[in-house]
Amino acid sequence: MTISPPPTVPFVDLTWQHAPLQEAIQGVISAVIAQGDFVLGQALSTFEADFAAACGARFGVGVGCGTDAIALGLVACGIAPGDEVILPANTFVATLMGVLRAGAVPVFVDCDRATALMDLDAAERAITPRTRAILPVHLYGQMVSPQALLELADRHRLIVFEDAAQAHLAQRDGYTAGSIGLGAAFSFYPSKNLGALGDGGMFVTQDQLVARTARSLRNYGATSKYCHTEPMGTNSRLDTLQAAVLNVKLPHLPSWNQARHHLAQHYDRRLAPLTEYGIIPMRNDAGSGHIYHLYVVRVAGPTSRTEIQAQLTAAGVQTGIHYPIPCHLQPAFRSLGYAPGHFPQAEALSQEVLSLPMYPGMTLEQVDYVVDAMVETVAAVRLERVLPGVMG
Ligand SMILES: *Cc1c(COP(=O)(O)O)cnc(C)c1O
Repeated sequence: MTISPPPTVPFVDLTWQHAPLQEAIQGVISAVIAQGDFVLGQALSTFEADFAAACGARFGVGVGCGTDAIALGLVACGIAPGDEVILPANTFVATLMGVLRAGAVPVFVDCDRATALMDLDAAERAITPRTRAILPVHLYGQMVSPQALLELADRHRLIVFEDAAQAHLAQRDGYTAGSIGLGAAFSFYPSKNLGALGDGGMFVTQDQLVARTARSLRNYGATSKYCHTEPMGTNSRLDTLQAAVLNVKLPHLPSWNQARHHLAQHYDRRLAPLTEYGIIPMRNDAGSGHIYHLYVVRVAGPTSRTEIQAQLTAAGVQTGIHYPIPCHLQPAFRSLGYAPGHFPQAEALSQEVLSLPMYPGMTLEQVDYVVDAMVETVAAVRLERVLPGVMG
């Protein structure tokens, strides 16, 4: 029996983030325990105000997770059963689940192969008289063009609802993620750019009435104690303990995002020569505002993604695939009536994308190690093709 050694480069490392904050985190946890306001407590109000302000939104409503932020947020924005909501096919399945839980009809659209972001021309073509909202996903940490979104929404009188679960403090053209739409959803799942010590999420909005409805929805649909006015109400609140921890982390978020950006630029530089081998980093159209929740390349042949991923694993480099099955082809949602071929770009991306290690605290040497391992793989495959048999 062999015991595999620990990976040389993990996909994500959170110990790096927590070690220097350990004492501060323990301090705020003790304070919450002493205060005893575990549900809807003071640290939650503080975090809601500070995080919303950081996003350029007026109100923040802490909920149990990002999926709930989408589901409750859409309902709070006035999305009603039967309303059509346009969303990209290539997103994490939670985007879809949020739409379905709001009772809305999901209408998928394809994406731009180079950025993996929603194709807004396709979105415009998908609009029907029943369309109420467009739900862009700021995938991998890059915002969908705010200007283009707002123009589209304006032309057709649509609500914009942002899935910003991968885009905490991402920016583009002067906008911050969460500030474009009527509503936006964030997740504080531990490995997100801002993560709790467990699940958590937030809905942010510019509208006071929408915020009030969302507050009611997360708290059994109550508007005053034991008076319940929202039938879609549920129990989904961000724990005071989690909010207290997030209060400690929030001031560090800009520098963590910067560190990710710096690493991504190094990846971009080092990977540039591999373009001719079909390894193409996702294009950054947002400049310095891309916060690289994930660093993703397309593996468009001749070396297969499976082969590259296997070689990286052998070299001790953990990788991921975001995502291997687009939403419209997920087995659970066959009844929506979509089939292979409906969204060629999203389907092609699901076969091509490979996420490389990325977290603040990762070193440039680790990036070099990952890239060197990729270079070796493509070089070996190339040699094998030129001189068949030589590589054994
Ligand atoms: C993480 C994520 C969610 C869901 O957030 P949870 O907190 O895990 O419920 C939704 N959409 C996207 C794009 C995500 O990455």
